[in-house]
Amino acid sequence: MKKAIYPGSFDPVTVGHMDLIMRSAKMFDELVVGVLDNYRKQCAFSVEERVEMLEVLTKDVPNIKIKAFSGLLVDFAKQEDAHIIVRGLRAITDFEYELQMAQTNRQIDGGIDTVFLTASAEYSYVSSSAVRELALFGGDYSGFVPCEIMPYIKKGFDGSR
Ligand code: ADP
Repeated sequence: MKKAIYPGSFDPVTVGHMDLIMRSAKMFDELVVGVLDNYRKQCAFSVEERVEMLEVLTKDVPNIKIKAFSGLLVDFAKQEDAHIIVRGLRAITDFEYELQMAQTNRQIDGGIDTVFLTASAEYSYVSSSAVRELALFGGDYSGFVPCEIMPYIKKGFDGSR
């Protein structure tokens, strides 16, 4: 069985993430979307909220599982018995960081490979940080996130935090 992990912060999940998730789910028997719970990274949304958003969006796709993880990605991959990590490349600016991370992970565990999917052209400018920036300053982020996620963003940026 081919099982892959797609790790990320998903803070919040965007149409670009979803494009990658749905494409990957067709390539592998099982796709585990790993939501990083990193105490060093201040997120706009709690790990529970990020997991819930992804669960809502993937509820009709049986081979996708959403799981929170903390610590090293290679340890999470081992725990899940997955040997493939999926990551996305939007532009050359993603490449340097992604290459370094993929090589580091292979150095730690030679049994794990990273597979890169290129962003769909129509989503290549979409990022979680742009959504957060737009939401914070009252901009229109509706084209950046799936419509089911809009209430979460509104709630998260209603001024109460
Ligand atoms: P991280 O904080 O680990 O970079 P993100 O949640 O920002 O996590 O992104 C997770 C992965 O999804 C990364 O590999 C990133 O390059 C990819 N990604 C993010 N946005 C897009 C997009 N619009 N299209 C394709 N891939 C994307």
